[in-house]
Amino acid sequence: IIIELHKLEKESIVSHLAASVSHEVRNPLTVTKGFLQLLKEKNKNSEDHQYFTMALDELKNAELILSDFLTFAKPAIESITTVDMYEEIQRSINVIRPLANLSNVNIHFEGKPLKFKGDKQKIHQAYVNILKNCIEAMPKGGNLKISLQDNEKYLEIIIKDTGIGMSQSQLLRLGEPFFSTKETGTGLGMMVAFSIIKSMGGTLEVSSVLNGGTTFKISFLMVTDLTKAH
Ligand code: ADP
Ligand code: MG
Repeated sequence: IIIELHKLEKESIVSHLAASVSHEVRNPLTVTKGFLQLLKEKNKNSEDHQYFTMALDELKNAELILSDFLTFAKPAIESITTVDMYEEIQRSINVIRPLANLSNVNIHFEGKPLKFKGDKQKIHQAYVNILKNCIEAMPKGGNLKISLQDNEKYLEIIIKDTGIGMSQSQLLRLGEPFFSTKETGTGLGMMVAFSIIKSMGGTLEVSSVLNGGTTFKISFLMVTDLTKAH
């Protein structure tokens, strides 16, 4: 029991710290980026030009890490509420739609209002990380199908892309910190998404076919009005 409590305490300290760091770091990064862009422009014809490019590239890496890790983190303690999953999926789709449009990816979402217990901000982060990967797997366009349905006591979310897919060995490494096949990947997005889903009692299954696409099946215990009343 002592070990468990200790672990819990540590986790909440870590998530609290992460949220504060996200807020405190993002602003100076944005300001620094602005000034560097200005200086880069001013030094267009100087031999120092390359250093500004290098500095800006590094900043971009830092921003990628923040966005995979802490986009929706709030410096507040975890808030578990009854959440409408349909709304959260819709919200996540709205966030990634511009990226989808850039890659000619069609998004199709089908579902109905179903509730579960969890942290809104975090589930949003998990979806964005997963959907972002799906879109990045379809650089030449494709279809992203998302469905939300109930299955007895559970609600099921199926996310299916028609992208490049993964080999068996890549699939086995999915969710491992820093595993990335992308040139500028962080390898953190899936780890974060998986741990968020797990922390809310959800389960996740992934299947993938190389050059055939990837399917994520996520499942959470559903909150019915009956259980809510008790
Ligand atoms: P990153 O996106 O920064 O590479 P992630 O943790 O989000 O890191 O993903 C890890 C790796 O998993 C990706 O680099 C990619 O190889 C693979 N992957 C994740 N989702 C998909 C997907 N939908 N289709 C194909 N490969 C995927
Ligand atoms: Mg990713």
